[in-house]
Amino acid sequence: MNYEAVIGLEVHAQLSTLSKIFCGCSTTFGAPPNTHTCPVCLGMPGVLPVLNKKAVDYAIRMGLATNCTIAPQSRFARKNYFYPDLPKGYQISQYELPLCEHGWVEIETTGGRKRIGITRIHLEEDAGKLIHDPYRPVSRVDLNRAGTPLMEIVSEPDMKTPEEAGAYLKVLHALLRYLDISDANMEEGNFRCDANVSIRPMGQKEFGTRTELKNMNSFRNVERALAYEIERQTILLEEGGKVVQETRLYDAAANRTQPMRGKEDAHDYRYFPDPDLVPVVVDEAWIGEQRQALPELPGARKERFASQYGLSEADAAFLCAARETADYFEQCAGACQNYKAVFNWISGELTALLNAQSLNISQSPISAASLAELLKLIDDGTISGKIAKTVFEKMAQSGDGPAKIVKDSGLVQVTDSDLIAKVVDEVLAANPDEVAAYKGGKKKLMGFFVGKIMQKTQGKANPKIVNQLVSEKLEQ
Ligand code: ADP
Ligand code: MG
Ligand code: ZN
Repeated sequence: MNYEAVIGLEVHAQLSTLSKIFCGCSTTFGAPPNTHTCPVCLGMPGVLPVLNKKAVDYAIRMGLATNCTIAPQSRFARKNYFYPDLPKGYQISQYELPLCEHGWVEIETTGGRKRIGITRIHLEEDAGKLIHDPYRPVSRVDLNRAGTPLMEIVSEPDMKTPEEAGAYLKVLHALLRYLDISDANMEEGNFRCDANVSIRPMGQKEFGTRTELKNMNSFRNVERALAYEIERQTILLEEGGKVVQETRLYDAAANRTQPMRGKEDAHDYRYFPDPDLVPVVVDEAWIGEQRQALPELPGARKERFASQYGLSEADAAFLCAARETADYFEQCAGACQNYKAVFNWISGELTALLNAQSLNISQSPISAASLAELLKLIDDGTISGKIAKTVFEKMAQSGDGPAKIVKDSGLVQVTDSDLIAKVVDEVLAANPDEVAAYKGGKKKLMGFFVGKIMQKTQGKANPKIVNQLVSEKLEQ
């Protein structure tokens, strides 16, 4: 039998507000344990939470960017469970009345373009962190993270392949970064994804029983975990078995999923509205304000890049995948109007350099202005494209600008025809057999002569002039 997969994702993104969601404590990462705490986030009796408006602002922006309806009234509830990282014994979270609902985003995969529905986006608080002593039966708790604002984005079960799930995650990730409302770093855990997946016979309307996968800390691992789980469920059904609805943890080292031990996912959370918090009332003016605060979003920016800079859609998509890359491109393009060259250098040399040093583009050792300067030196004929690669490397190593490197290392392109003609004569005289073969019809030897001349001039001869002179002299 042929099966198809059904996938829905729950994404948690930590919002980058300065203070926590219900108290004034700092959200700065890396402080000594329990120093960013107060009676509110420690869950002391008798204290009252006060909602951080910025967290609502950010969630409204995400809602608008994902085509959601913003609820005029939403509410916080208490989600009750007992665990030592949760000092109050309940987590404050939006439940029946979320802030945003009924949105969608567009993804693009090898299968084409597709809309993925957003069921809801709601606000909640994060829990603390347990640190288990590896040598003694002791666990410690750090509540610095308790009360950090989280936004949960729940998708409709609209995805059919791990590739679609990966594409959807990347769209959300790019939006969060463009909106500048979350660091959205998966490795650091401020962008987390739980993946729900089931399979059903092709053509069947009803969904199959789903499992929920946790513990994936990269886009790639989300896709790998889903692929594994789809295969596991398929084999199970083919062998006449049944999928059990459960939470499974992904083990990246072994590339498999395993049921979470115990009954940790069989909770009755006894949700009820939090009596300490008033309903969140969002009027049109507030929504309008947040709409004003939206930057140009990745989709629109991609289209503008294609039309304004004459780039292909794929090139524009590459540049606009991350806001920092798109910004870098625009800075460069402002100074150098050879847009295709700007793209080529960013996607080629610069990306290779950044990957080799595990840097992101905002940490680039070569600024956008310097790269533009380098490209202008190629365009005005000061250096050849080949020499430019050497200059680029030296820029990365020394931090010097291209003009200084070209001057100090004597890399200026030789455009003096008389000088080049001398070298051409030398090379032709030194290779009489090849000259004869060329004249006998072996025109491919052109490259051989040009190569020798470039070698002799350490790549500094203007290749256009070299080509022209060699063919002139050989046709004589
Ligand atoms: P819970 O709160 O228990 O996690 P939800 O109803 O909120 O359950 O659904 C969580 C996610 O699971 C959503 O993203 C939804 O799209 C997805 N989902 C629901 N049913 C299925 C299914 N049968 N197969 C795959 N995904 C599903
Ligand atoms: Mg769930
Ligand atoms: Zn606090």
